[in-house]
Amino acid sequence: MPELPEVEALALDLKGRLDGRAIVKVHVAAFSALKTFDPPLSALEGTLVDDVTRHGKFLDIDASGVHLVLHLARAGWVRWREELPMVPPKPSSKSTLAVRIELDDGTGLDVTEAGTRKSLAMYVVRDPHDVPGIASLGPDPLEDGFTVDVLGSILQREGRKQVKGVLRHQGTIAGIGNAYSDEILHAARMSPYKPANSLTDDELATLYAALRRTVGDAVERSRGLAASELKGEKKSNLAVHGRAGEACPVCGDTVREVSFADSSLQYCPTCQTGGKPLADRRMSRLLK
Ligand SMILES: [Zn+2]
Repeated sequence: MPELPEVEALALDLKGRLDGRAIVKVHVAAFSALKTFDPPLSALEGTLVDDVTRHGKFLDIDASGVHLVLHLARAGWVRWREELPMVPPKPSSKSTLAVRIELDDGTGLDVTEAGTRKSLAMYVVRDPHDVPGIASLGPDPLEDGFTVDVLGSILQREGRKQVKGVLRHQGTIAGIGNAYSDEILHAARMSPYKPANSLTDDELATLYAALRRTVGDAVERSRGLAASELKGEKKSNLAVHGRAGEACPVCGDTVREVSFADSSLQYCPTCQTGGKPLADRRMSRLLK
């Protein structure tokens, strides 16, 4: 799933490609993706693109005051097309194409979604805050206003909730998902299960520094890359996320995993949990 650094880089890449171009037509191949009906899709036709920005993990194409907002969810992606096929796309359950944006010079964008669980979302709105997921976003962790005190008060407010869940909840902090929360906690040498309000001042400072560095470095590395290069860039720089069974790059211990119904987290026991593996309900059930 694309998180803050990838969506930031996508916005920058698309801004360069779309700026000053006019949208000719927006073809919807997966109707479930379109979440709004007013203004209609046709309101985008003939509009010039002024800007492409990011709100949390949402991508916002501003076309002369009408905003096409995309949430790529778990398996969505954007593919730039130098030349679009002459024939408009047909809805098909076999194709990953969800939306095609056709521009006035024959180029365009394909928004795709892999897998069977369809959660890609597209909104056409006059104000990005009309998108409920944007209106409820927490502060952006790369903004100047996101200080160690802001993080501290967020963690206090969330009480005994596990720090991993607090970091990736979009209404609490915008843009961090499952991958970067694993990476931040590994960099901070902190258990994902640590209660949010139990951090000492030193631990808070360490977590804050790890968060800003992990997300900031990923943005720096991603900046200037094309959409097609971003996924590989992200994966090659992850220390623990998605790397269960591999060696921790810091201490060499084996990266472990805890599985949940629809996700999993990865961590290093030596770096993060005093050498003790965390309980994994699925694994202990299988072993009984
Ligand atoms: Zn380690």
